[in-house]
Amino acid sequence: MAGPTVVAIVGCGPWGLAVLERLHTAALLDARVRLVVHVIEPGPPGVGIYSEKLPEYLLLNTACGQVDLFASKILDPELECAFARPSFFDWLEAQAYRVTQYRRPDGAEVTRGLQKADFLPRRWLGRYLRLVFDTLARHAPPNLELRVHPRRALDIAALPAGERIRFDDGTRLDADYVFLTLGHGESPLSHSELRETSSSGALETLEPASIEPGEPIGIAGFGLTAIDSITHLTVGKGGSFVRTERGLDYVASGREPRLLQFSRSGLPYEPRPQGPDEMARRPGSLAHDGAAIRHLIDARGQVDFRRDLLPLVLDEMAACFSHVAQTTKPSASALAAGSPAAGARRGGFDPAGDLFERERVFADSGAYQASLLDRIASGLDESRRGPARSPRKAGIESLRELRELVRAVVDFGGLTPESFADYRRHFVTNIYRLIVGPPVQKMEEWLALRRAGVVVTPVGPNPRVLARSGGWTLRSTRLERSAACEASRLLSGHASPAQSVIQGSALLQNLTAEGRVRALDPSGTLGCGLDLDACFHPRTQGSTARRLFVLGLLSEGARSFNLYVPSPGSRLRAFTDADACVSEIIGRPARR
Ligand SMILES: Cc1cc2nc3c(=O)[nH]c(=O)nc-3n(C[C@H](O)[C@H](O)[C@H](O)COP(=O)(O)OP(=O)(O)OC[C@H]3O[C@@H](n4cnc5c(N)ncnc54)[C@H](O)[C@@H]3O)c2cc1C
Repeated sequence: MAGPTVVAIVGCGPWGLAVLERLHTAALLDARVRLVVHVIEPGPPGVGIYSEKLPEYLLLNTACGQVDLFASKILDPELECAFARPSFFDWLEAQAYRVTQYRRPDGAEVTRGLQKADFLPRRWLGRYLRLVFDTLARHAPPNLELRVHPRRALDIAALPAGERIRFDDGTRLDADYVFLTLGHGESPLSHSELRETSSSGALETLEPASIEPGEPIGIAGFGLTAIDSITHLTVGKGGSFVRTERGLDYVASGREPRLLQFSRSGLPYEPRPQGPDEMARRPGSLAHDGAAIRHLIDARGQVDFRRDLLPLVLDEMAACFSHVAQTTKPSASALAAGSPAAGARRGGFDPAGDLFERERVFADSGAYQASLLDRIASGLDESRRGPARSPRKAGIESLRELRELVRAVVDFGGLTPESFADYRRHFVTNIYRLIVGPPVQKMEEWLALRRAGVVVTPVGPNPRVLARSGGWTLRSTRLERSAACEASRLLSGHASPAQSVIQGSALLQNLTAEGRVRALDPSGTLGCGLDLDACFHPRTQGSTARRLFVLGLLSEGARSFNLYVPSPGSRLRAFTDADACVSEIIGRPARR
């Protein structure tokens, strides 16, 4: 009888855990499947960037009710399972977690029980991920042997019928198949630290303690990493937020620097919807049948995103807007007339404008800042109403579901090269701004910091950033009456794209040098990872590594939208992709 199939998972954050869950379930479902699974991870397995060492004030931007790593409950209803498979929320409730609702001016904390819509500390998720890993390890069936290697993989060499992994301590391990789920790379914790841009452009970790009170610090970006930096330099320096009759106020510690924030677009991220995750679904919508897009794929072969796909996306967004506008505001019934896009425009929703903002020029710094505050205030209002009650939020959030269909057309070389570059530069970037923003609480805190004068945005969109001795000058480019300010240091407010993970990983550098993998986008400007075929095998000029699989962040570009914790709903794709790889390994027909 042939021996078991040996599988290695290199890098076990949430995506490596999703692979393990699929292998584990395959073994539970079929006793003839015999597996040895090696998990190679220097940190606590399963946890990835959600380290339990993170400060409590760094929050998830995913509502806790949306996270569940036990995908077998959804994907394998036939599985009779003898152990508990709690969702993140169920596990937190069972552990009697409570959230601080707000802090009163006298310092007393007001707490309450959890709700599924809560955005909780990241380190709580780390604890759940560890629980998931421990559960899978403890309940491994007899036909799956699990071995954990707390080491870093440095290289992987092809054998005639397998792969040989070399570790940082010089030892080696042979496997039949290897998953590369390296996520944010070899030091995942660094993604929650302050990252200073040096005058050469390189990023270096910066200790918050080295920043003086009142020191002017530039922050490039409005996204989640920028919000982390702001939180480190305010709450992390002893400040706190209190709820008064006026709303949320910031109580300064006196140790905060002065934060000068800016970004290329000058646009804020849209806060996540608050409350239950009710998608505004329309019966028969494109997101449900997909017929229009599938027809497009069949008819055209390689597609131009703007010409062929974007009109369908915009119409779907507009239709979701109109659907909610009709159900929430009867007087808006006129919206139903004509094409959904036209109706939506009449109702004040311009999906194309939301997705592809024109470059605006403002009269002066004050005009820009007033417009920014307006947008944030209306974004907060829409997020509080949620997609079931805010027509615009419904239109925007439909993008979340549409990602699946966009993937079906775009991924694995579906677009012409020119259109692919356009899609990555404009559409993908804006999708992140629109639907992967911070929770409402973080935007409320931002406004409180703005009122307290701790955060300012004086230079408008896309300022020129000039290195000078002892710091930086930020000079406006889109204000008619120009404005400038000086910063002593500059922090990067962007999560590092896949390209910088490739550059920072000794393993990927070795694999690249040996010609086993290559970057999908040699220019490094499109936020892409590795070149992969449609079965997630890395490929280079003329060769494909069929015993390697790449999932998650490093598949970005080949596969679209991978920066999330694998979970049910619109995040189930991570599990179905991993499942397809597992089917290939165990010789089972692909299941979906
Ligand atoms: C600051 C930040 C906050 C985020 N917040 C959210 C959020 O709230 N919700 C959400 O859905 N998404 C969030 N994301 C997106 C994030 O991409 C995913 O949630 C998730 O972390 C991706 O999981 P992963 O397993 O691919 O990567 P990671 O979590 O980065 O895990 C990868 C693992 O691989 C290991 N590894 C790397 N190289 C090697 C090697 N050579 N040998 C062995 N092991 C190796 C690392 O040690 C690490 O444990 C956030 C991202 C960032 C940067």
